[in-house]
Amino acid sequence: MTVRPPLPPPPYEGACLCGAVRWRLNARPLAVNACHCTDCKKTTGATNVLMLIAKNEDFSSIGETDTYRKRADSGRESDIHRCAKCGCRMFHHNLASQALVFIAAGTLDDPSWAIPTSHIWVEKISPGVVMQDDAIQVVGQPADRKVLMDAFTKVYGDGT
Ligand SMILES: [Zn+2]
Ligand SMILES: [Zn+2]
Repeated sequence: MTVRPPLPPPPYEGACLCGAVRWRLNARPLAVNACHCTDCKKTTGATNVLMLIAKNEDFSSIGETDTYRKRADSGRESDIHRCAKCGCRMFHHNLASQALVFIAAGTLDDPSWAIPTSHIWVEKISPGVVMQDDAIQVVGQPADRKVLMDAFTKVYGDGT
Protein backbone atom coordinates (compact mmCIF):
# COMPACT_ATOMS: atom_id res chain seq x y z
CA MET A 1 0.00 0.00 0.00
CA THR A 2 1.14 3.51 -0.77
CA VAL A 3 1.79 5.42 2.44
CA ARG A 4 0.56 8.98 2.11
CA PRO A 5 1.04 11.72 4.68
CA PRO A 6 -2.14 13.75 5.20
CA LEU A 7 -2.69 16.61 2.79
CA PRO A 8 -1.65 19.79 4.62
CA PRO A 9 -4.23 22.58 4.61
CA PRO A 10 -3.78 25.49 2.18
CA PRO A 11 -2.09 27.80 1.44
CA TYR A 12 0.80 26.12 -0.36
CA GLU A 13 3.85 28.07 -1.40
CA GLY A 14 6.82 27.50 -3.62
CA ALA A 15 9.77 29.17 -5.28
CA CYS A 16 12.35 28.69 -7.98
CA LEU A 17 15.94 27.72 -7.31
CA CYS A 18 17.22 31.29 -6.94
CA GLY A 19 14.15 32.60 -5.10
CA ALA A 20 13.33 35.41 -7.55
CA VAL A 21 9.97 33.84 -8.40
CA ARG A 22 7.54 32.79 -5.68
CA TRP A 23 4.03 31.42 -6.00
CA ARG A 24 1.12 30.78 -3.69
CA LEU A 25 -1.92 28.54 -3.97
CA ASN A 26 -4.78 29.43 -1.66
CA ALA A 27 -6.86 26.28 -2.09
CA ARG A 28 -6.35 22.54 -2.26
CA PRO A 29 -5.11 21.27 -5.60
CA LEU A 30 -7.70 19.57 -7.80
CA ALA A 31 -5.22 16.86 -8.80
CA VAL A 32 -1.64 15.73 -8.26
CA ASN A 33 -0.66 14.35 -11.63
CA ALA A 34 2.57 12.94 -13.00
CA CYS A 35 3.11 13.41 -16.73
CA HIS A 36 5.51 11.08 -18.50
CA CYS A 37 5.26 12.59 -21.99
CA THR A 38 8.36 13.32 -24.02
CA ASP A 39 7.81 17.09 -23.91
CA CYS A 40 7.77 17.06 -20.09
CA LYS A 41 10.97 15.03 -20.05
CA LYS A 42 12.65 17.51 -22.39
CA THR A 43 11.43 20.70 -20.73
CA THR A 44 12.69 19.61 -17.32
CA GLY A 45 15.51 17.19 -18.04
CA ALA A 46 13.76 14.82 -15.62
CA THR A 47 12.02 11.51 -16.31
CA ASN A 48 8.59 13.01 -15.63
CA VAL A 49 6.93 16.08 -14.15
CA LEU A 50 4.74 16.00 -11.08
CA MET A 51 2.15 18.75 -11.26
CA LEU A 52 -0.44 20.25 -8.98
CA ILE A 53 -3.49 21.05 -11.07
CA ALA A 54 -5.40 23.92 -9.51
CA LYS A 55 -7.82 26.72 -10.26
CA ASN A 56 -6.00 29.73 -11.65
CA GLU A 57 -8.15 32.03 -9.51
CA ASP A 58 -6.57 30.49 -6.39
CA PHE A 59 -3.03 30.98 -7.73
CA SER A 60 -0.67 33.94 -7.74
CA SER A 61 3.00 34.48 -8.38
CA ILE A 62 5.56 37.25 -8.00
CA GLY A 63 8.84 37.73 -9.82
CA GLU A 64 9.70 37.82 -13.50
CA THR A 65 9.16 34.73 -15.62
CA ASP A 66 10.08 33.91 -19.20
CA THR A 67 7.37 32.19 -21.20
CA TYR A 68 7.82 29.47 -23.77
CA ARG A 69 4.82 28.57 -25.90
CA LYS A 70 4.88 24.84 -26.45
CA ARG A 71 2.82 23.12 -29.12
CA ALA A 72 2.06 19.46 -28.50
CA ASP A 73 1.58 16.85 -31.21
CA SER A 74 -2.12 17.05 -30.39
CA GLY A 75 -2.08 20.71 -31.41
CA ARG A 76 -2.70 21.82 -27.83
CA GLU A 77 -0.64 24.85 -26.85
CA SER A 78 0.60 25.83 -23.44
CA ASP A 79 2.66 28.67 -22.00
CA ILE A 80 5.42 27.36 -19.74
CA HIS A 81 6.70 29.89 -17.22
CA ARG A 82 10.29 29.70 -16.01
CA CYS A 83 12.18 31.95 -13.65
CA ALA A 84 13.77 34.63 -15.85
CA LYS A 85 16.92 34.41 -13.75
CA CYS A 86 17.59 30.74 -12.93
CA GLY A 87 15.46 29.04 -15.61
CA CYS A 88 13.56 26.79 -13.20
CA ARG A 89 10.34 25.44 -14.74
CA MET A 90 7.60 26.77 -12.46
CA PHE A 91 4.07 26.46 -13.85
CA HIS A 92 2.12 26.48 -17.08
CA HIS A 93 -1.22 27.41 -18.50
CA ASN A 94 -2.93 25.42 -21.19
CA LEU A 95 -4.37 27.85 -23.74
CA ALA A 96 -7.47 25.70 -24.13
CA SER A 97 -8.21 25.67 -20.37
CA GLN A 98 -7.15 29.00 -18.95
CA ALA A 99 -9.15 28.51 -15.75
CA LEU A 100 -6.52 26.02 -14.61
CA VAL A 101 -2.87 26.30 -13.63
CA PHE A 102 -0.37 23.44 -13.64
CA ILE A 103 2.31 23.94 -10.98
CA ALA A 104 5.54 21.92 -10.98
CA ALA A 105 5.35 20.23 -7.57
CA GLY A 106 9.12 20.13 -7.23
CA THR A 107 9.06 23.90 -6.66
CA LEU A 108 6.98 23.53 -3.47
CA ASP A 109 8.73 24.83 -0.35
CA ASP A 110 7.57 21.56 1.24
CA PRO A 111 7.08 18.90 -1.44
CA SER A 112 6.89 16.06 1.10
CA TRP A 113 3.14 15.54 0.66
CA ALA A 114 3.03 15.74 -3.14
CA ILE A 115 2.50 12.15 -4.28
CA PRO A 116 0.78 11.41 -7.58
CA THR A 117 -2.81 10.24 -7.64
CA SER A 118 -2.65 9.88 -11.41
CA HIS A 119 -0.07 9.17 -14.09
CA ILE A 120 -0.56 10.10 -17.73
CA TRP A 121 1.33 9.05 -20.87
CA VAL A 122 2.25 5.85 -19.01
CA GLU A 123 3.26 4.16 -22.27
CA LYS A 124 6.28 6.50 -22.24
CA ILE A 125 7.20 5.90 -18.63
CA SER A 126 10.92 5.74 -17.84
CA PRO A 127 12.21 2.57 -16.22
CA GLY A 128 12.74 3.12 -12.52
CA VAL A 129 9.68 5.30 -11.95
CA VAL A 130 7.77 4.15 -8.89
CA MET A 131 4.02 3.76 -9.29
CA GLN A 132 1.54 4.08 -6.42
CA ASP A 133 -0.98 1.28 -6.10
CA ASP A 134 -3.82 3.77 -5.48
CA ALA A 135 -2.96 6.06 -8.41
CA ILE A 136 -4.67 5.71 -11.77
CA GLN A 137 -2.68 5.14 -14.94
CA VAL A 138 -3.79 6.71 -18.21
CA VAL A 139 -2.42 5.89 -21.66
CA GLY A 140 -1.92 9.22 -23.42
CA GLN A 141 -3.88 12.00 -21.84
CA PRO A 142 -7.52 11.75 -20.84
CA ALA A 143 -10.03 13.48 -23.10
CA ASP A 144 -11.49 15.02 -19.95
CA ARG A 145 -9.23 16.09 -17.05
CA LYS A 146 -12.05 15.24 -14.66
CA VAL A 147 -10.72 11.68 -14.41
CA LEU A 148 -7.53 13.10 -12.87
CA MET A 149 -9.54 15.18 -10.42
CA ASP A 150 -11.76 12.22 -9.54
CA ALA A 151 -8.64 10.14 -8.85
CA PHE A 152 -7.40 12.82 -6.45
CA THR A 153 -10.76 13.08 -4.68
CA LYS A 154 -10.94 9.31 -4.32
CA VAL A 155 -7.64 9.33 -2.37
CA TYR A 156 -7.93 12.58 -0.41
CA GLY A 157 -11.67 13.27 -0.26
CA ASP A 158 -13.31 16.45 -1.48
CA GLY A 159 -12.02 18.60 1.38
CA THR A 160 -15.32 18.95 3.19
ZN1 LIG B 1 14.96 31.72 -10.05
ZN1 LIG C 1 3.75 16.08 -20.23
